[in-house]
Amino acid sequence: MQVYLNGKIVPAKEAVVSVFDHGFLYGDGIYETMRVYDGVVFMLDEHIKRLYRSASLIGLSIPLDTDSLKISIFETLIANNLKNAYVRLTVSRGHGTIGLDPELCAEPTTVIIVQGLKEYPRSFYENGISIIIPKTRRNLKEAINPRIKSLNFLNNILAKIEAKKRDAYEAVMLNSCGKLTEGTISNLFFYRDGLLCTPSADCGILDGITRGIVVEIAMRDGLKVKEGEFTREDLYSAEEVFITNTTLEVMPVSKVDDRVYIPGNVTNLLHKAYRQEVNAYVSNVKAKGPSIWDQNE
Ligand code: PMP
Repeated sequence: MQVYLNGKIVPAKEAVVSVFDHGFLYGDGIYETMRVYDGVVFMLDEHIKRLYRSASLIGLSIPLDTDSLKISIFETLIANNLKNAYVRLTVSRGHGTIGLDPELCAEPTTVIIVQGLKEYPRSFYENGISIIIPKTRRNLKEAINPRIKSLNFLNNILAKIEAKKRDAYEAVMLNSCGKLTEGTISNLFFYRDGLLCTPSADCGILDGITRGIVVEIAMRDGLKVKEGEFTREDLYSAEEVFITNTTLEVMPVSKVDDRVYIPGNVTNLLHKAYRQEVNAYVSNVKAKGPSIWDQNE
C-alpha cells in the first residue's frame, strides 16, 4: 500500500508521523472520508469544501490549495491502482513541542490513505443492522462544534464501546436536552406517519453529505421531510429506520434497543434512488472528458 504524506507518496511502512504531532498528542486536526466509484470520487468538491470549513473553524491553514489536494488524492489512488475505494484525508496541526498552543507547530501534516472498499455484507442491506441509544451523550455543540469533522473522536468512541457491548453496530446519541442527534459515524433517519424525519443541524450533528443528498432525493420524490427535534420515543414508534454515510450509503436498521423494525419501502426506494444519483454523478464526470486515469493507463 502507498500512502501520501506531506507531498510524497511512500510505502505504508515509511508513512510515519512524529510522536510530537499534535494530531497524536491532542487530536488537533481534521479529516474527510470519501468513496470512489469506478475511479470517480463521489461528491469530491463537497468533501473538499467541508474539509476547508473544518480547517477554518479550528484556525488551521491547509498547506495545499483545492486543486493540488484533488490531484494528490488521484495520485494516491493511481499509486495503489484502486478505482473502487475508500479515501481518508487527514490534516493535523503538525509536529511541535508539547503544549496546546497551535503556534508551536510550524507546518500541518497531510496524509491520504486509500483502501480497497470492503463492501458491507448484502445481509446488512436486506435485513438491516442493530443500533442502540447509548448512555453517552453527544458533545455539547457549544463545546465542540460537530460541524468540525475533527480527529477528536473520543465522544463517538465511548458510544461505540457501548454499542459493541450490546452487540449493536451503531450508537445514536442523544444531546444534553435528550433529543436525538446522530450515530458515531452516521446520520439518522426514520419514517413515521407519512413523514421522513431526521434530526436538524441545530440538534448538534455533522451535516453529512449523504444526509443532504437523501433529503434532496426524498423531497424530489414527493416525500414530506421534517428536519427537527425528536425524542427517543419518536424513534421507537417509527415504521422504518435507517442511517446514512458516505461508505454505508443508506443502511436499514432492524433494531433500536429492544424495538424491532422491518426494512420497508421508503428505505429501499431511497437507497435505490441514492445509487442512481451516484451512477448519474459518475457518468457525468466521465462525460466531461479524459480523466487523470487515462494518462496513467
Ligand atoms: N456524523 C458523523 C459523526 C460522522 O462521522 C459521519 C461520517 N463522516 C457522518 C455523520 C456522515 O457524514 P457523510 O454522509 O458526509 O459521510
